Amino acid sequence: MIRPYILAETNWKHLKDEEFELAILPWGATEAHNYHLPYATDNIEGDAIAAESARIAWEKGAKVIVLPVIPFGVNSGQSDIYLDINLNPSTQFAILSDIIEVLNRQGVYKLMILNSHGGNNWKSMVRELGLKFPKMFICVTDWFKSLDKSLYFDYSGDHADEMETSLVLYLEPGLVLPKKEWGNGNEKINKIKAFSEPWAWTERPWSQISEDTGVGNPMESSVEKGKRFFNAVCEKMAALLFDVSKANIDDLYK
Ligand SMILES: [Zn+2]
Repeated sequence: MIRPYILAETNWKHLKDEEFELAILPWGATEAHNYHLPYATDNIEGDAIAAESARIAWEKGAKVIVLPVIPFGVNSGQSDIYLDINLNPSTQFAILSDIIEVLNRQGVYKLMILNSHGGNNWKSMVRELGLKFPKMFICVTDWFKSLDKSLYFDYSGDHADEMETSLVLYLEPGLVLPKKEWGNGNEKINKIKAFSEPWAWTERPWSQISEDTGVGNPMESSVEKGKRFFNAVCEKMAALLFDVSKANIDDLYK
C-alpha cells in the first residue's frame, strides 16, 4: 500500500496536483547503541514515529508529508567509536538550508524537524534560517522528551536504554541481539558535580563514560513497553502535526 503522506513512497502522478501544508523531516544518526541495538536505531525510531504520527494526522485531514530520514547526525563525542558517522553541525546547516529553500520556493511554508538524536542541536540553526526564509514556519521536536518516561519504564537513561531497547524490540525485533549479549549501560559521571546538573554542560567523551556505549540499564526492556510508549508518543506527535498544519502562522499568539 502506497502511503500518500510518505514522500519516498508516493509518486508524481499523485504529487503533481497536490498541496501540502507541513513537511516533516526526521533526522537521526548512525552510531553504536550498546552492544545489542543496530547502528540505525535513531533512524528506525524517527522514521517509524514520523510515519505513524503522520498517518494519524492525515486521517484527521491534515495535509502532511514525511520526507526521507537524514541518517547521519552529530557524533563529535564518539569520534573514536568505530564507524559512528559524524556530520558536523555546519554540514547539517547546509543540508537543512537546501531543503528549506526547496520548500520555500514551492510554497510548503511549514517544516518540522522531527529530531531523533540527542547530539543534534537545532535552535541556533532555526533562528538563523528563520531570518533567511521569513515566510517559513520552522519548528523542532524531540520525541524522546515528549512524555514522562518514568510512567513507561523502570530505568532511566539516554542512550540505548530501556526506552530505546523496548522501541527497537517492538519495531525491528530481528535487529536486536539476544539478551545475554546486552551490556548494562552503566554511565560514569563527571567528577565535577555541576556537569550532572542542567545548568552546566560539556560534551561527554563517549568511550570514557560507558564501556558498552550504552547509557541506561536496558535489562527490563520489553516489546509491550515499546509498543505502549510508541503509541503514546505518536498520539501526542500527531496532535501537534495536526495543530501546526492547520494553524495560521501569522496569528499564533493570544
Ligand atoms: Zn539513540
